[in-house]
Amino acid sequence: MTHQFPALSPEQKKELNDIALQIVSPGKGILAADESVGSMAKRLTQIGVENTEENRRFYRQILMTADDRIKNYIGGVIFFHETLYQSTDDGTPFINVIKEKNILAGIKVDKGVVTLSGTNGETTTQGLDGLAERCAQYKKDGADFAKWRCVLKISATTPSALAIMENANVLARYASICQQNGIVPIVEPEILPDGDHDLKRCQYVTEKVLGAVYKALSDHHIYLEGTLLKPNMVTPGHSCPTKYSPEEIATATVTALRRTVPPAVPGITFLSGGQSEEEATINLNAINKCPLPKPWALTFSYGRALQASALNAWRGEKENMQAAQNEFMKRAEVNSLAALGQFEASSEGEGAASQSLYIENHAY
Ligand code: 13P
Repeated sequence: MTHQFPALSPEQKKELNDIALQIVSPGKGILAADESVGSMAKRLTQIGVENTEENRRFYRQILMTADDRIKNYIGGVIFFHETLYQSTDDGTPFINVIKEKNILAGIKVDKGVVTLSGTNGETTTQGLDGLAERCAQYKKDGADFAKWRCVLKISATTPSALAIMENANVLARYASICQQNGIVPIVEPEILPDGDHDLKRCQYVTEKVLGAVYKALSDHHIYLEGTLLKPNMVTPGHSCPTKYSPEEIATATVTALRRTVPPAVPGITFLSGGQSEEEATINLNAINKCPLPKPWALTFSYGRALQASALNAWRGEKENMQAAQNEFMKRAEVNSLAALGQFEASSEGEGAASQSLYIENHAY
């Protein structure tokens, strides 16, 4: 039997657990605003806006300066490196703007996916080199949590045992380095929605992937109380001909999580993964209403499903700033209700919120 040498002091553990609990306190979730420069190019092109540093800053300013109601809905914001060091028009760093609202700052620390050769187009995620130094600096600069995204694909031949093992292990190495530096790791093994697989297949793969992730986290002595999980919901593939109800999606999701995620994990913060804004809200609500016992907070860490309407309302025009903030606030509020299982579908508007946000083979 192996022995665990002490890795974290009681004070370090308490700090990590407090951060994780604060982010997912009741009715709160995460705004994932950590799109890389390349991902922002795609978002901005869609609304006819040039991908300059100033346009990216201005757009993020819209989100960061939403009025004070936001502090009831959002517990953490994930930044991309560039945004962590940007400021509002009056020179206030974004990080100070959100901290005044009791919202914690997170930072995307992975450096993207690379091919695992010898597999059918599968990937692992890179960025471990220098990670300890980067985490130490980010902590000094005010970040309290981090995100690292791994990607798995469902097809007849994937995910392979190699991809499952390699991605679980790299997530555990990342989590270990974060915790040593006072940073709560968000562990994100995203299973892409691409494909025509049914709900059962997604549930099976999700269980295998999460099982491997928690084995690796255990092997690496990760302090689970100081982590958050960011998984996909269990949904049918994007091109699956069968339609499933939100209740079926919720049951499959909660069942998969109950089988694999220890109750010591404080919170599970779902990615939206190309669901429409409306679907992401309705499914999160159904998950929270699912009658199975749920020992963790179940909330959102949405990128597209919190921002699509806001981006569309903005369209690069200064005078649309308020309209864009209204859209963002609306999504934050309904997802906050969904995180409590209190969202009423009838209060939902029609239109843009129901448009699919699916992107093939999505990168972040
Ligand atoms: P989506 O909610 O747009 O899927 O993105 C969340 C995220 O942070 C993926 O890494």
